[in-house]
Amino acid sequence: MTEPRPARTDLESLATQAARAGTDLPGATRPAVAPIYQTSVYEFESLDQVDAVSEGELAGYLYSRNGLPNSDSLAEAMATLEGAEAGLATGSGMGAISVALLSQLGQGDHLLAASELYGVTMALLREDLPRWGVQVSYFDTGDAASAERSWTPQTRAVWVETLSNPRLGLADLPGLADLAHRRGALLMVDNTFASPAVCQPHRFGADLVMNSLTKFLGGHDDLTAGALTGSAALIGQARRFSVRLGTFLAPFDAWLAVRGIKTLAVRLAAACANAQTLAERLAAYPAVLAVNYPGLDSHPQRALVRQLLPRQAGAMLSFEVPGGRAGADQVIRRLRHIPFAPSLGGVRTAVSHPGTTSHRAMPPAERARLGIGDGLIRVSVGIEAIEDIWADLEQALGALQR
Ligand SMILES: *Cc1c(COP(=O)(O)O)cnc(C)c1O
Repeated sequence: MTEPRPARTDLESLATQAARAGTDLPGATRPAVAPIYQTSVYEFESLDQVDAVSEGELAGYLYSRNGLPNSDSLAEAMATLEGAEAGLATGSGMGAISVALLSQLGQGDHLLAASELYGVTMALLREDLPRWGVQVSYFDTGDAASAERSWTPQTRAVWVETLSNPRLGLADLPGLADLAHRRGALLMVDNTFASPAVCQPHRFGADLVMNSLTKFLGGHDDLTAGALTGSAALIGQARRFSVRLGTFLAPFDAWLAVRGIKTLAVRLAAACANAQTLAERLAAYPAVLAVNYPGLDSHPQRALVRQLLPRQAGAMLSFEVPGGRAGADQVIRRLRHIPFAPSLGGVRTAVSHPGTTSHRAMPPAERARLGIGDGLIRVSVGIEAIEDIWADLEQALGALQR
């Protein structure tokens, strides 16, 4: 019979040891990469120290929802990449959008928004902003004159996407910034489809820029996060509101996003070069009805493309196949390697079908008015070898009859 091993602790000291586990941190050398600060609270030596940290006289943290090192280093990286004074990281792109709009708009205000927007943003504008007493009206994204016609004395902000989903129209950022600033309003831009590697909206006058880091900035389909960038004053307001709203970004996802950002430039250079080639080949493919890509001469806003996207035209494109929904379904089913995954911005090429995913909630008549046909397929172009991407797409398109 084996003797029971002697207990290392009695039950009370086990409770103590359990409660104190992991609090004696090693500190001899400095890590090359920031560790994950997986803590919800910080310890203080004295009441004076709490005062100093709370008043911002001493660098430090208090409680994770108020901010923590991993999300702050991400926010700083985003401010640098977007060319802004300050940044704020949030738990999702929608968190950043909610903070941007709700921290700046209130009872009686009017928001002017682009007619083509990310579906969940559209739902926020339609279903939630009116409950905050904010009226919203819509204008044609590429046309600053159409925004001016819809202007009201209560208009406080303009909301647009740099590149629209799914037709890749460009917002006239310089024209809209000029209009908004002449009338004392803010220009807010969702830069998710471009990323700062493709366009930096602050350079064209945007006041607040939002990115979903879930997409190109994270880049690997493995995290959910968002960011806002802008002046220290606007980001300060956004930060205080985000603490109350609770749009906190967890340390591990912040850490992953910083890791993803390190390769943003090389990933986007490869993906944009692939997208350009793919767009050209699709445009030359007999059965394809139309291709939307800012890098094609056929794009209706050439001058704006040269101004806003001077180096590369992005990694998103969409194309229309004949046969409507059945035609698109046939192509998607035949793809062997490219997944149908309704997200974007990962290193792997993926297709989506706006009619059944991002624009599902939109009435068919409105989709048709915006040119989002049932045969439209969206491609988030990755960094694989272009011949492998094309081979898969070409064999899938082979079944189509024009
Ligand atoms: C994905 C996306 C969002 C929302 O970002 P989440 O991180 O999913 O909350 C907003 N705008 C655009 C254009 C997007 O593609």
